[in-house]
Amino acid sequence: MHLTNKFGVPEAIVIKIKADIDSDPYNKKDDIRRHFRTTELIGPPLIQTLQIKHDDIIEQDAIAYLAVQYGTQFHKLCEGFDNETYCYEQKVHKVVIYNGIEYVIDGTIDEIFFDGGCNIVTDNKTILLRNLPYPKPEYEKQLNVYAHMLRGEFASDIPMKLQIRYFIKDWTPGDLPKALERQKDDFAVMLTGNKKAKKSCATQEEAVQYIARELSPALQARASVKQRDKSYMRAQIRKDIPESSILHKPVALESAEAMNAFLQERLRDHIDTPERPCTEEERFSNDARCKYYCAARSVCLYAKSKGY
Ligand code: SF4
Repeated sequence: MHLTNKFGVPEAIVIKIKADIDSDPYNKKDDIRRHFRTTELIGPPLIQTLQIKHDDIIEQDAIAYLAVQYGTQFHKLCEGFDNETYCYEQKVHKVVIYNGIEYVIDGTIDEIFFDGGCNIVTDNKTILLRNLPYPKPEYEKQLNVYAHMLRGEFASDIPMKLQIRYFIKDWTPGDLPKALERQKDDFAVMLTGNKKAKKSCATQEEAVQYIARELSPALQARASVKQRDKSYMRAQIRKDIPESSILHKPVALESAEAMNAFLQERLRDHIDTPERPCTEEERFSNDARCKYYCAARSVCLYAKSKGY
């Protein structure tokens, strides 16, 4: 893999990025078994296939690693010293047999807190405020794979709870008051028989125009504009905007049987269809993965055809 620097990242940072790439803790070249990082296994097979096949010519730019470095620094911020109740950066592995061949899945659990009767397993992530409302099924799956590995290696009979700890990169203490101010005059387009607003508008005029422009005559007959009271809006906003830059979201724990089936299904996808084109869902909204995150973009025909 060639590290490029097309966007003028300072040399001192590029040197650090190179050193981090060279010290990849998941590099298992001395093991003949095929290894998957948890994130690789959950992701589409084409990315890893292209990375293995074109390792000598693949290009990645230092700018893409800056976001990764940001995440790494948040992990370091959360990492304390292991003691009786807390364990940090715990490496976990699981050997899974598929079609008679052994594969190894590797992962690192950011934090395990033993609260006396239960292990609370935490995965640290960074996020932008505007992305918080969207579900993150891949994060939840990743955490469940870690829990499954933990279950197998260390603590099969200790109950577990899972959570994602988000660091909201663009949160400031002023966000909540500003949001309340913005939402002061909130007008909702309501349809008779429905409790949820069809559309929220900043002004009454905007709501009226929306009804005339966007709704069919049948829906127009059921539509009305309602100004929502401030206490309702405050409750809605408080639900969406966290009161600090750190937010914990609980994740449902999946059973051992479900996770065994999931690992078999993911291995089948990677081993039997390594060159399967990525689906629209895997490319993320508007090909965001292809444009901004994919490590195989420089050698991917789809990405090239789109000019990413
Ligand atoms: S660039 Fe997009 S389509 Fe190509 S491997 Fe990456 S995610 Fe898949």
